[in-house]
Amino acid sequence: MTKIIDGKQISSQIKEELRDRVSALRSRGVEITLAVIIVGEDPASKVYVNNKKKACEFIGIRSLSYELPETTTEEELLQLIQDLNGRTDVNGILVQLPVPKHIDEQKIIHAIDPKKDVDGFHTQNVGSLCVGQKGFVSCTPAGIIQLLRRSDISIAGKECVVIGRSNIVGKPMALLMLQENATVTVCHSRTENLKEVCKRADILIVAIGKPRMITAEYVKEGAVVIDVGIHRDENNKLCGDVNYEDVAPHCSAITPVPGGVGPMTIAMLMNNCVSSVEA
Ligand code: NDP
Repeated sequence: MTKIIDGKQISSQIKEELRDRVSALRSRGVEITLAVIIVGEDPASKVYVNNKKKACEFIGIRSLSYELPETTTEEELLQLIQDLNGRTDVNGILVQLPVPKHIDEQKIIHAIDPKKDVDGFHTQNVGSLCVGQKGFVSCTPAGIIQLLRRSDISIAGKECVVIGRSNIVGKPMALLMLQENATVTVCHSRTENLKEVCKRADILIVAIGKPRMITAEYVKEGAVVIDVGIHRDENNKLCGDVNYEDVAPHCSAITPVPGGVGPMTIAMLMNNCVSSVEA
């Protein structure tokens, strides 16, 4: 029978554990503060930022909110980041992406002090992940490792195929699976024979950004399938990059959308905030 990996339940469990860690820190007089910056009026970004603030409240992390107008200049944003870098009472800084087009995203990411880069996007943190040193890890891939571990899915020695090579999901995902001793293949839009390559996977991680593209033809019987995609279909229903109904009967385990990978991202962001003061 196919196991449905319950990201909602696992993320709640992680948030409960974090709440205990935060309360232990507080009893030693340590407070945690996350600064959240959003530029512009993108409705999806606003929803993400609100969810992050709610998670902070639940866990006991203080959040500082900076809601800046669309017209904010790159210099103004850089100045704010510099101020927050210098504040000893601020432990984490998060700039909600995407930023408006007139602002250079890479410049913003690299302006954040790597020790406060709780999104794990700064090249110093990416480099640490690459060479297996301590640092902040991008939240979605880190959440997927937790989903696998907490579902008792063994990774070492397994064939893992990651579809997607973005800096936020695909690449750090591949590095984490390598760190967990999987044999890793990374696929992208130029990969030839995608179906055949995917069919080799014991663990198939899909981050393509194409609604329901992955059908049973891509999946080996008994594989574990992790669906990172989030989309609204023609009926405004949430769906992933995987055609769930077609694929699920062939898997040993699968993440649903919603309720799979999605809830893990915020839980791991909170984990990064707590780790930033425990280090
Ligand atoms: P990107 O668009 O940055 O990357 C997509 C990747 O898929 C690229 O590497 C691209 O290849 C590859 N790709 C596109 N089309 C094909 C194809 N036909 N065959 C093979 N590979 C292909 O997306 P992200 O990594 O940012 O996100 C992926 C998905 O995950 C999206 O649906 C996004 O919404 C979702 N997401 C969900 C999160 C969550 O919390 N659950 C968090 C972040 C993202 P190439 O490099 O050659 O262009």
